[in-house]
Amino acid sequence: MSDVFMHTYHRLPMTFTQGQGAWLTDTAGKRYLDFTAGIAVNCLGHGHPKVVQALADQAARLIHVSNYYQSDVSRAFAEQLVRACAPVGLQRVFLANSGAEANEGACKIARKYSLKKYGPGRHSIVTLKGSFHGRTITTLSATGQDKFHQDFGPFTEGFRFVPPGDLNALEQGLDKTITAGFLLEAVQGESGILPQKDEYIRRAAELCADRDILLMFDEIQCGLGRTGTFLACEAYGVKPDLVTLAKGLSAGVPVGAVLAGEKTAEVFEAGDHGSTFGGNPLAAAAGLAVLEIVNNPEFLAAIVRKGQRIQDTLKAWHHPKIKAVRGRGLMIGVDITTEAWNILEAAAAQGLLILSAGAHTLRFLPPYIITDEEIDLGLELLKKVLD
Ligand SMILES: *Cc1c(COP(=O)(O)O)cnc(C)c1O
Repeated sequence: MSDVFMHTYHRLPMTFTQGQGAWLTDTAGKRYLDFTAGIAVNCLGHGHPKVVQALADQAARLIHVSNYYQSDVSRAFAEQLVRACAPVGLQRVFLANSGAEANEGACKIARKYSLKKYGPGRHSIVTLKGSFHGRTITTLSATGQDKFHQDFGPFTEGFRFVPPGDLNALEQGLDKTITAGFLLEAVQGESGILPQKDEYIRRAAELCADRDILLMFDEIQCGLGRTGTFLACEAYGVKPDLVTLAKGLSAGVPVGAVLAGEKTAEVFEAGDHGSTFGGNPLAAAAGLAVLEIVNNPEFLAAIVRKGQRIQDTLKAWHHPKIKAVRGRGLMIGVDITTEAWNILEAAAAQGLLILSAGAHTLRFLPPYIITDEEIDLGLELLKKVLD
Protein backbone atom coordinates (compact mmCIF):
# COMPACT_ATOMS: atom_id res chain seq x y z
CA MET A 1 0.00 0.00 0.00
CA SER A 2 1.31 3.36 -1.00
CA ASP A 3 1.47 6.15 1.52
CA VAL A 4 1.00 8.98 -0.96
CA PHE A 5 -2.71 9.13 -0.16
CA MET A 6 -3.96 10.55 3.09
CA HIS A 7 -5.52 7.74 5.07
CA THR A 8 -9.14 8.81 4.68
CA TYR A 9 -10.53 5.55 3.29
CA HIS A 10 -10.51 1.90 4.31
CA ARG A 11 -9.58 0.81 0.82
CA LEU A 12 -9.94 -2.82 -0.18
CA PRO A 13 -6.83 -4.23 -1.89
CA MET A 14 -8.23 -4.70 -5.41
CA THR A 15 -7.01 -2.40 -8.18
CA PHE A 16 -9.59 -2.09 -10.92
CA THR A 17 -8.50 -1.28 -14.42
CA GLN A 18 -11.60 -1.91 -16.50
CA GLY A 19 -15.34 -2.08 -16.33
CA GLN A 20 -18.13 -3.32 -18.56
CA GLY A 21 -21.79 -3.24 -17.63
CA ALA A 22 -22.18 -4.47 -14.05
CA TRP A 23 -18.66 -5.96 -14.00
CA LEU A 24 -15.25 -4.67 -12.94
CA THR A 25 -11.91 -6.32 -13.71
CA ASP A 26 -8.81 -6.06 -11.53
CA THR A 27 -5.12 -6.11 -12.45
CA ALA A 28 -5.02 -9.90 -12.08
CA GLY A 29 -7.87 -10.27 -14.57
CA LYS A 30 -10.35 -11.33 -11.89
CA ARG A 31 -13.93 -10.14 -12.50
CA TYR A 32 -16.23 -8.69 -9.86
CA LEU A 33 -19.97 -8.19 -10.01
CA ASP A 34 -20.68 -4.61 -8.97
CA PHE A 35 -23.64 -4.09 -6.60
CA THR A 36 -22.25 -0.67 -5.59
CA ALA A 37 -22.13 1.34 -8.83
CA GLY A 38 -19.39 3.50 -7.30
CA ILE A 39 -21.85 4.44 -4.52
CA ALA A 40 -24.81 5.14 -6.80
CA VAL A 41 -22.62 6.95 -9.35
CA ASN A 42 -22.19 4.51 -12.26
CA CYS A 43 -25.96 4.26 -12.62
CA LEU A 44 -25.67 2.97 -16.20
CA GLY A 45 -22.89 0.58 -15.28
CA HIS A 46 -19.39 0.77 -16.68
CA GLY A 47 -18.53 1.57 -20.29
CA HIS A 48 -22.11 2.28 -21.36
CA PRO A 49 -21.79 2.89 -25.12
CA LYS A 50 -23.99 6.01 -25.12
CA VAL A 51 -22.06 7.59 -22.25
CA VAL A 52 -18.69 6.66 -23.75
CA GLN A 53 -19.70 8.04 -27.14
CA ALA A 54 -21.08 11.26 -25.66
CA LEU A 55 -17.90 11.81 -23.64
CA ALA A 56 -15.56 10.98 -26.50
CA ASP A 57 -17.41 13.30 -28.90
CA GLN A 58 -17.60 16.11 -26.37
CA ALA A 59 -13.96 15.73 -25.30
CA ALA A 60 -12.91 16.10 -28.92
CA ARG A 61 -15.14 19.14 -29.40
CA LEU A 62 -14.88 21.16 -26.16
CA ILE A 63 -14.16 19.95 -22.62
CA HIS A 64 -14.68 23.11 -20.66
CA VAL A 65 -15.82 26.64 -21.11
CA SER A 66 -16.28 29.16 -18.32
CA ASN A 67 -19.78 29.80 -17.06
CA TYR A 68 -19.29 33.39 -18.20
CA TYR A 69 -20.10 32.12 -21.71
CA GLN A 70 -22.87 29.99 -23.16
CA SER A 71 -22.48 26.29 -23.85
CA ASP A 72 -24.90 24.52 -26.16
CA VAL A 73 -24.47 21.19 -24.38
CA SER A 74 -24.67 22.62 -20.84
CA ARG A 75 -27.86 24.44 -21.76
CA ALA A 76 -29.36 21.31 -23.33
CA PHE A 77 -28.50 19.32 -20.20
CA ALA A 78 -30.04 21.95 -17.91
CA GLU A 79 -33.18 22.02 -20.05
CA GLN A 80 -33.57 18.24 -19.96
CA LEU A 81 -32.90 18.11 -16.24
CA VAL A 82 -35.46 20.79 -15.45
CA ARG A 83 -37.95 19.03 -17.73
CA ALA A 84 -37.35 15.75 -15.85
CA CYS A 85 -37.98 17.52 -12.52
CA ALA A 86 -40.94 19.60 -13.71
CA PRO A 87 -43.57 17.09 -12.46
CA VAL A 88 -42.78 18.18 -8.89
CA GLY A 89 -42.78 21.86 -9.81
CA LEU A 90 -39.06 22.52 -10.19
CA GLN A 91 -38.19 25.25 -12.66
CA ARG A 92 -34.53 26.16 -12.63
CA VAL A 93 -31.16 24.61 -11.95
CA PHE A 94 -27.70 25.60 -10.73
CA LEU A 95 -25.00 23.14 -11.77
CA ALA A 96 -22.10 22.26 -9.47
CA ASN A 97 -19.59 19.39 -9.16
CA SER A 98 -20.56 17.32 -6.17
CA GLY A 99 -23.24 16.53 -3.67
CA ALA A 100 -21.77 18.60 -0.87
CA GLU A 101 -21.46 21.56 -3.18
CA ALA A 102 -25.07 21.18 -4.30
CA ASN A 103 -26.24 21.10 -0.66
CA GLU A 104 -24.15 24.19 0.12
CA GLY A 105 -25.91 25.97 -2.74
CA ALA A 106 -29.32 24.89 -1.48
CA CYS A 107 -28.52 26.17 2.03
CA LYS A 108 -27.39 29.51 0.62
CA ILE A 109 -30.66 29.83 -1.30
CA ALA A 110 -32.69 28.99 1.82
CA ARG A 111 -30.84 31.59 3.88
CA LYS A 112 -31.20 34.33 1.29
CA TYR A 113 -34.87 33.53 0.65
CA SER A 114 -35.64 33.90 4.34
CA LEU A 115 -33.40 36.95 4.89
CA LYS A 116 -34.97 38.93 2.04
CA LYS A 117 -38.49 38.11 3.18
CA TYR A 118 -38.20 38.12 6.98
CA GLY A 119 -34.92 39.83 7.84
CA PRO A 120 -32.05 38.44 9.93
CA GLY A 121 -32.32 35.65 12.53
CA ARG A 122 -34.45 33.22 10.55
CA HIS A 123 -31.59 31.25 9.03
CA SER A 124 -31.79 27.85 10.76
CA ILE A 125 -32.02 24.70 8.72
CA VAL A 126 -33.58 21.66 10.34
CA THR A 127 -32.23 18.26 9.30
CA LEU A 128 -32.76 14.69 10.49
CA LYS A 129 -30.79 12.63 12.94
CA GLY A 130 -28.99 9.94 10.97
CA SER A 131 -28.82 12.11 7.88
CA PHE A 132 -25.81 12.51 5.64
CA HIS A 133 -25.33 15.68 3.61
CA GLY A 134 -21.62 15.87 2.82
CA ARG A 135 -18.12 16.50 4.13
CA THR A 136 -17.58 20.24 3.90
CA ILE A 137 -17.83 22.18 7.14
CA THR A 138 -21.37 23.37 6.40
CA THR A 139 -22.68 20.07 5.06
CA LEU A 140 -21.07 18.27 8.02
CA SER A 141 -22.92 20.73 10.21
CA ALA A 142 -26.10 19.64 8.44
CA THR A 143 -25.27 15.94 8.90
CA GLY A 144 -27.10 14.48 11.89
CA GLN A 145 -24.51 11.91 12.94
CA ASP A 146 -22.10 12.65 15.78
CA LYS A 147 -19.42 10.33 14.45
CA PHE A 148 -18.73 12.82 11.65
CA HIS A 149 -18.44 15.75 14.05
CA GLN A 150 -15.27 14.80 15.91
CA ASP A 151 -12.29 17.11 15.57
CA PHE A 152 -13.62 19.56 13.00
CA GLY A 153 -15.41 22.30 14.89
CA PRO A 154 -16.39 25.00 15.13
CA PHE A 155 -19.16 24.26 12.67
CA THR A 156 -21.44 26.47 10.65
CA GLU A 157 -24.02 27.80 13.02
CA GLY A 158 -27.76 27.29 12.56
CA PHE A 159 -28.37 23.58 11.98
CA ARG A 160 -30.81 21.76 14.23
CA PHE A 161 -31.72 18.08 14.22
CA VAL A 162 -34.97 16.23 14.73
CA PRO A 163 -35.44 12.44 14.92
CA PRO A 164 -36.86 11.03 11.67
CA GLY A 165 -40.46 9.87 11.69
CA ASP A 166 -41.41 11.83 14.82
CA LEU A 167 -44.25 14.20 13.91
CA ASN A 168 -44.34 15.92 17.31
CA ALA A 169 -40.63 16.65 17.19
CA LEU A 170 -41.07 18.01 13.69
CA GLU A 171 -43.97 20.22 14.69
CA GLN A 172 -41.79 21.68 17.47
CA GLY A 173 -38.57 21.73 15.47
CA LEU A 174 -39.94 23.67 12.52
CA ASP A 175 -40.08 26.92 14.47
CA LYS A 176 -41.08 29.55 11.94
CA THR A 177 -39.44 32.39 13.83
CA ILE A 178 -35.95 30.97 13.27
CA THR A 179 -36.20 28.33 10.51
CA ALA A 180 -35.48 28.91 6.83
CA GLY A 181 -35.56 25.32 5.60
CA PHE A 182 -36.09 21.63 6.31
CA LEU A 183 -33.50 19.47 4.55
CA LEU A 184 -34.01 15.71 4.35
CA GLU A 185 -33.32 12.56 2.38
CA ALA A 186 -36.51 10.83 1.22
CA VAL A 187 -34.58 7.60 1.74
CA GLN A 188 -31.64 7.98 4.12
CA GLY A 189 -28.65 6.37 2.45
CA GLU A 190 -25.54 6.35 4.60
CA SER A 191 -27.39 5.53 7.80
CA GLY A 192 -28.95 2.29 6.55
CA ILE A 193 -31.42 2.75 3.64
CA LEU A 194 -34.26 4.17 5.68
CA PRO A 195 -37.25 5.37 3.62
CA GLN A 196 -39.39 8.07 5.22
CA LYS A 197 -43.01 7.19 5.80
CA ASP A 198 -45.64 8.73 3.49
CA GLU A 199 -47.44 10.36 6.37
CA TYR A 200 -44.26 11.97 7.66
CA ILE A 201 -43.35 13.55 4.34
CA ARG A 202 -46.89 14.71 3.69
CA ARG A 203 -47.11 16.36 7.11
CA ALA A 204 -43.64 17.89 6.71
CA ALA A 205 -44.74 19.39 3.39
CA GLU A 206 -47.88 20.85 5.03
CA LEU A 207 -45.96 22.33 7.94
CA CYS A 208 -43.34 23.81 5.64
CA ALA A 209 -45.98 25.35 3.37
CA ASP A 210 -47.95 26.80 6.32
CA ARG A 211 -44.86 28.30 7.93
CA ASP A 212 -43.07 29.33 4.73
CA ILE A 213 -40.15 27.06 5.58
CA LEU A 214 -38.47 25.69 2.45
CA LEU A 215 -38.89 21.95 1.88
CA MET A 216 -35.49 20.75 0.67
CA PHE A 217 -34.80 17.21 -0.50
CA ASP A 218 -31.26 15.87 -0.65
CA GLU A 219 -31.70 13.36 -3.48
CA ILE A 220 -28.00 12.95 -4.09
CA GLN A 221 -28.18 9.21 -3.42
CA CYS A 222 -31.89 8.38 -3.74
CA GLY A 223 -32.75 10.55 -6.76
CA LEU A 224 -32.30 10.04 -10.47
CA GLY A 225 -34.42 6.91 -10.76
CA ARG A 226 -32.68 5.00 -7.97
CA THR A 227 -35.96 4.36 -6.12
CA GLY A 228 -38.02 3.84 -9.27
CA THR A 229 -39.35 7.38 -9.78
CA PHE A 230 -37.15 10.03 -11.37
CA LEU A 231 -37.05 11.91 -8.07
CA ALA A 232 -37.68 9.96 -4.88
CA CYS A 233 -39.91 12.77 -3.56
CA GLU A 234 -42.28 12.23 -6.52
CA ALA A 235 -43.51 9.06 -4.89
CA TYR A 236 -44.74 11.09 -1.89
CA GLY A 237 -46.81 13.49 -3.99
CA VAL A 238 -45.20 16.59 -2.53
CA LYS A 239 -43.79 19.71 -4.20
CA PRO A 240 -40.33 20.53 -2.85
CA ASP A 241 -38.85 24.02 -2.91
CA LEU A 242 -35.32 22.75 -3.49
CA VAL A 243 -33.86 19.41 -4.59
CA THR A 244 -30.19 18.50 -4.80
CA LEU A 245 -28.76 15.83 -7.10
CA ALA A 246 -25.23 14.60 -7.79
CA LYS A 247 -23.79 11.04 -7.73
CA GLY A 248 -25.41 9.30 -10.75
CA LEU A 249 -26.35 12.42 -12.65
CA SER A 250 -23.47 12.26 -15.13
CA ALA A 251 -22.79 8.50 -14.88
CA GLY A 252 -19.37 8.94 -13.28
CA VAL A 253 -18.28 12.41 -14.31
CA PRO A 254 -18.35 14.80 -11.34
CA VAL A 255 -21.50 16.91 -11.28
CA GLY A 256 -24.03 18.31 -8.85
CA ALA A 257 -27.29 20.18 -9.23
CA VAL A 258 -29.56 22.39 -7.17
CA LEU A 259 -33.10 22.50 -8.54
CA ALA A 260 -35.43 25.27 -7.48
CA GLY A 261 -39.21 25.53 -7.44
CA GLU A 262 -41.45 28.56 -7.79
CA LYS A 263 -40.48 30.21 -4.48
CA THR A 264 -36.76 29.77 -4.94
CA ALA A 265 -36.14 29.96 -8.69
CA GLU A 266 -35.13 33.63 -8.63
CA VAL A 267 -33.40 33.88 -5.25
CA PHE A 268 -29.88 33.72 -6.65
CA GLU A 269 -28.92 36.81 -8.60
CA ALA A 270 -25.82 37.60 -10.64
CA GLY A 271 -22.71 37.21 -8.47
CA ASP A 272 -24.47 35.35 -5.64
CA HIS A 273 -23.02 31.93 -6.37
CA GLY A 274 -20.71 30.19 -8.76
CA SER A 275 -18.59 27.16 -9.54
CA THR A 276 -15.68 27.07 -11.97
CA PHE A 277 -16.31 23.57 -13.26
CA GLY A 278 -20.04 23.43 -12.47
CA GLY A 279 -21.96 21.71 -15.27
CA ASN A 280 -19.12 22.00 -17.76
CA PRO A 281 -19.62 20.60 -21.27
CA LEU A 282 -18.00 17.23 -20.47
CA ALA A 283 -20.23 16.60 -17.43
CA ALA A 284 -23.22 17.95 -19.34
CA ALA A 285 -22.67 15.62 -22.29
CA ALA A 286 -22.63 12.59 -20.00
CA GLY A 287 -25.61 13.93 -18.09
CA LEU A 288 -27.63 14.29 -21.29
CA ALA A 289 -26.97 10.64 -22.10
CA VAL A 290 -28.09 9.65 -18.58
CA LEU A 291 -31.30 11.66 -18.73
CA GLU A 292 -32.20 10.34 -22.15
CA ILE A 293 -31.98 6.78 -20.87
CA VAL A 294 -33.19 7.06 -17.27
CA ASN A 295 -36.09 9.49 -17.58
CA ASN A 296 -38.27 6.93 -19.31
CA PRO A 297 -41.26 5.17 -17.70
CA GLU A 298 -40.26 1.70 -18.91
CA PHE A 299 -36.71 2.10 -17.71
CA LEU A 300 -37.92 3.29 -14.30
CA ALA A 301 -40.40 0.41 -14.08
CA ALA A 302 -37.53 -2.03 -14.68
CA ILE A 303 -35.66 -0.51 -11.71
CA VAL A 304 -38.65 -1.24 -9.47
CA ARG A 305 -38.97 -4.78 -10.83
CA LYS A 306 -35.26 -5.56 -10.35
CA GLY A 307 -35.29 -4.15 -6.83
CA GLN A 308 -38.30 -6.30 -6.00
CA ARG A 309 -36.48 -9.35 -7.34
CA ILE A 310 -33.58 -8.68 -4.97
CA GLN A 311 -35.84 -8.13 -1.97
CA ASP A 312 -38.04 -11.15 -2.75
CA THR A 313 -35.04 -13.42 -3.11
CA LEU A 314 -33.41 -12.25 0.12
CA LYS A 315 -36.66 -12.60 2.06
CA ALA A 316 -37.36 -16.05 0.66
CA TRP A 317 -34.09 -17.37 2.08
CA HIS A 318 -35.24 -16.86 5.68
CA HIS A 319 -31.55 -16.76 6.39
CA PRO A 320 -30.69 -16.85 10.11
CA LYS A 321 -28.14 -14.05 9.64
CA ILE A 322 -30.62 -11.71 7.91
CA LYS A 323 -32.80 -9.70 10.28
CA ALA A 324 -34.54 -7.33 7.87
CA VAL A 325 -34.64 -6.37 4.19
CA ARG A 326 -35.94 -3.00 3.04
CA GLY A 327 -35.58 -0.39 0.36
CA ARG A 328 -37.06 1.26 -2.69
CA GLY A 329 -36.12 0.32 -6.23
CA LEU A 330 -32.42 -0.45 -6.52
CA MET A 331 -31.58 1.07 -3.14
CA ILE A 332 -31.67 -1.82 -0.70
CA GLY A 333 -30.56 -2.30 2.90
CA VAL A 334 -30.13 -5.66 4.62
CA ASP A 335 -29.75 -5.80 8.38
CA ILE A 336 -27.56 -8.70 9.43
CA THR A 337 -26.55 -10.25 12.72
CA THR A 338 -22.81 -10.05 12.00
CA GLU A 339 -20.38 -7.24 11.18
CA ALA A 340 -21.28 -5.80 7.79
CA TRP A 341 -17.66 -4.96 7.00
CA ASN A 342 -16.61 -8.62 7.37
CA ILE A 343 -19.33 -9.72 4.95
CA LEU A 344 -18.35 -6.98 2.53
CA GLU A 345 -14.71 -8.14 2.55
CA ALA A 346 -15.62 -11.81 2.21
CA ALA A 347 -18.02 -11.01 -0.66
CA ALA A 348 -15.33 -9.02 -2.47
CA ALA A 349 -13.01 -12.03 -2.20
CA GLN A 350 -15.77 -14.09 -3.85
CA GLY A 351 -16.12 -11.53 -6.66
CA LEU A 352 -19.13 -9.57 -5.41
CA LEU A 353 -18.88 -5.88 -4.51
CA ILE A 354 -21.37 -4.58 -1.96
CA LEU A 355 -21.47 -1.66 0.48
CA SER A 356 -22.31 -1.27 4.12
CA ALA A 357 -24.41 1.46 5.77
CA GLY A 358 -23.66 1.34 9.46
CA ALA A 359 -22.06 -1.54 11.36
CA HIS A 360 -24.75 -4.16 10.73
CA THR A 361 -26.40 -3.20 7.46
CA LEU A 362 -25.41 -4.27 3.96
CA ARG A 363 -26.26 -1.80 1.23
CA PHE A 364 -26.88 -2.57 -2.44
CA LEU A 365 -26.85 0.16 -5.06
CA PRO A 366 -26.40 -1.83 -8.28
CA PRO A 367 -26.30 -0.14 -11.68
CA TYR A 368 -29.73 0.16 -13.29
CA ILE A 369 -28.63 -1.91 -16.27
CA ILE A 370 -27.96 -5.00 -14.15
CA THR A 371 -29.70 -8.09 -15.56
CA ASP A 372 -31.87 -10.62 -13.71
CA GLU A 373 -29.16 -13.24 -14.26
CA GLU A 374 -26.54 -10.96 -12.71
CA ILE A 375 -28.82 -10.24 -9.76
CA ASP A 376 -29.33 -13.97 -9.16
CA LEU A 377 -25.62 -14.66 -9.50
CA GLY A 378 -24.69 -11.87 -7.08
CA LEU A 379 -27.20 -13.05 -4.52
CA GLU A 380 -25.93 -16.63 -4.80
CA LEU A 381 -22.43 -15.36 -4.03
CA LEU A 382 -23.78 -13.42 -1.07
CA LYS A 383 -25.57 -16.49 0.25
CA LYS A 384 -22.36 -18.47 0.09
CA VAL A 385 -20.62 -15.77 2.11
CA LEU A 386 -23.40 -15.57 4.69
CA ASP A 387 -23.48 -19.37 5.06
C1 LIG B 1 -22.98 11.19 -1.17
C2 LIG B 1 -23.96 12.08 -0.56
C3 LIG B 1 -23.68 13.43 -0.33
C4 LIG B 1 -22.33 14.04 -0.62
O1 LIG B 1 -22.01 14.00 -1.97
P1 LIG B 1 -20.48 14.27 -2.41
O2 LIG B 1 -20.55 14.26 -3.91
O3 LIG B 1 -19.64 13.18 -1.85
O4 LIG B 1 -20.10 15.60 -1.88
C5 LIG B 1 -24.68 14.22 0.21
N1 LIG B 1 -25.88 13.70 0.52
C6 LIG B 1 -26.19 12.41 0.31
C7 LIG B 1 -27.55 11.91 0.65
C8 LIG B 1 -25.23 11.55 -0.21
O5 LIG B 1 -25.52 10.26 -0.38
